[in-house]
Amino acid sequence: MKIIMCASEVVPFAKTGGLADVAGALPLALQNLGEEVIVVMPGYKAIQSPKFSIKRLRDDISYAVIGKNIKVYFIENEKYFNRDGLYGDKTSDYPDNLDRFSYYCKRTLELLKEINFRPGIIHIHDWQASLVPVYLKNLYINDGFYKNIKTILTIHNIGYQGLFSKEEFPKLGLDWSLFNMEMLEFYGKMNILKGGMVFSDIINTVSPTYSKEIQTKEFGFGLEGVLNKRRDSVFGILNGLDYSIWNPETDKFISQNYSLQNINAKHKNKEDLQRICKLPVKNDVPLFGIVSRLAQQKGFDILAEAISKICKMELQLVILGTGDLKYHLLLEKMVKKFPEVISLHLKFDDPLAHKIYAGSDIFVMPSKYEPCGLGQMISLKYGTMPLVFKTGGLADTVTEDNGFVFDNYHKKDLINTIKKATQAFNNKSKWEKLIEKAMRCNFSWEESAREYIRLYEKASTC
Ligand code: ADP
Repeated sequence: MKIIMCASEVVPFAKTGGLADVAGALPLALQNLGEEVIVVMPGYKAIQSPKFSIKRLRDDISYAVIGKNIKVYFIENEKYFNRDGLYGDKTSDYPDNLDRFSYYCKRTLELLKEINFRPGIIHIHDWQASLVPVYLKNLYINDGFYKNIKTILTIHNIGYQGLFSKEEFPKLGLDWSLFNMEMLEFYGKMNILKGGMVFSDIINTVSPTYSKEIQTKEFGFGLEGVLNKRRDSVFGILNGLDYSIWNPETDKFISQNYSLQNINAKHKNKEDLQRICKLPVKNDVPLFGIVSRLAQQKGFDILAEAISKICKMELQLVILGTGDLKYHLLLEKMVKKFPEVISLHLKFDDPLAHKIYAGSDIFVMPSKYEPCGLGQMISLKYGTMPLVFKTGGLADTVTEDNGFVFDNYHKKDLINTIKKATQAFNNKSKWEKLIEKAMRCNFSWEESAREYIRLYEKASTC
């Protein structure tokens, strides 16, 4: 099958979140299963880095190659994409994001014809690519080249919808008749993700549980009605994990490599982490790790309420992350009060993240909602027990069998689950068995890619 992947960020060229990991890894996994894939993304300033070998196709189109000759095309535009940020600067979103991403979508469709790549499937991701099916089914409907091309929309986080004012609608070059409640209108505004949801043949999200949750009022961010109407076309496929990056056996960032064959070697990483974090080097105290955006979505509201109680328990806590200022300030206060308990790192630091996954005993991820989540899958691979709230991808990957789960989103339940994990840690023989079970979990991209192929086949019959 010929597939084109459209995403606004793709590893290794540009990344702000999990979308880029998926858009970079899924094409490789699909190719390994025999599919023909190309990728199209905006040509941001970052791609001009000498570390990428970029070739020129046209004045405004360049490309690079990933995997075994998968072409990643970059839609260039001096005015729209030659900037440092992907979606905005430090303080706010760029005011011309609608112009930028509508341009990207239209130019992508034109490019297909120019390079004569007629895909069976266009797989689009998130609101930034959501105008592709809208244009396909409205502007390009009478052009034979685009006939019968099917589209799949993957929603990575329904909280981000691409909302713009009604006054900007003419910029899209679409008929005003599309600005109605059944299509692009959303409470008087224009909602680009909604357009993608309405005009795609199939909608999917990044975990089965999240695909159900977003059809409810609690998690749907106002789009639950649209999803409900299309519920027979809504699916969920868990993201895979790139085990060439996340593997304790080969990880270059950790002080001691280990595997199921020598799990004991894991404790050297704990010592190393305690030293780096200036915490007392003790093997018999459970070390809890967090690598996360410091945001309410990630559970920091209940964590903030619980933190002083947690710090009085017999444990250590390493936190790596950046995010909301209020959490920065609160955690800094806690460090001053409990310097032997908390070690805080308010930055983005990939090597330290690897050390935390390897050196902690328990990985804490109490997200309020979580479309898929990578942290829990990484920590399982490193034999670090995940402690999670039962939601979205966390519910699909962590059970009482390979971690600790609470299902009432409240600080008390978080504290009790931490207590439970501490007790389990103190039972050494049981703990080792748990680690083993965790390390045996497998969330490879191969399995996810097979599921995507089944979905593409389903779309072909729509
Ligand atoms: P998100 O909603 O932020 O995409 P995920 O769990 O899907 O959450 O993925 C987050 C990824 O980013 C994980 O690989 C995690 O290790 C990494 N990460 C998050 N914060 C940091 C940080 N401060 N430093 C290093 N890596 C981080």
